[in-house]
Amino acid sequence: MEDCIFCKIIKNEIPSEKIYEDDLVLAFLDIKPVNIGHTLIIPKKHFENLFELPEEIAIHIMKITKKIGLAIKKSGADGVNISINNGKAAGQIIFHSHTHIIPRFIGDNLPVWPAKTPKEGQLKEIAKKIIEELARP
Ligand code: 5GP
Ligand code: ZN
Repeated sequence: MEDCIFCKIIKNEIPSEKIYEDDLVLAFLDIKPVNIGHTLIIPKKHFENLFELPEEIAIHIMKITKKIGLAIKKSGADGVNISINNGKAAGQIIFHSHTHIIPRFIGDNLPVWPAKTPKEGQLKEIAKKIIEELARP
């Protein structure tokens, strides 16, 4: 993808602080980290989001995410958040699939997601819809 920032990072057209690379993926530090050490892992081939990724690449990304997450923990973090934003509504800004690996520290006071109290029947209703979608070929 010509205009994709992450494709440019892969081609070394934009500099980045790389921490891991193999045939399928590249991991580098986020330029605007939530906490220092915030890492992004991306497939070397351009895919827009998780749902576009071939199975074997998705599995490999999870394997390397676990490895890097553990290294981040061992390098001083108290905990690690792993997240993938899929779609504009989910906060995706760069449309080249990427996984965030975010070091967390006791007392870093980052905001937590607000929790909703579901209305009567709401959980059953959405569970039914998701189960129906899962059953589709
Ligand atoms: P998203 O909201 O799409 O999940 O996150 C995109 C992330 O990419 C953001 O955290 C942002 O700081 C990071 N980012 C955007 N442009 C660049 C860049 O040129 N270099 C690096 N290293 N990170 C970037
Ligand atoms: Zn790309």
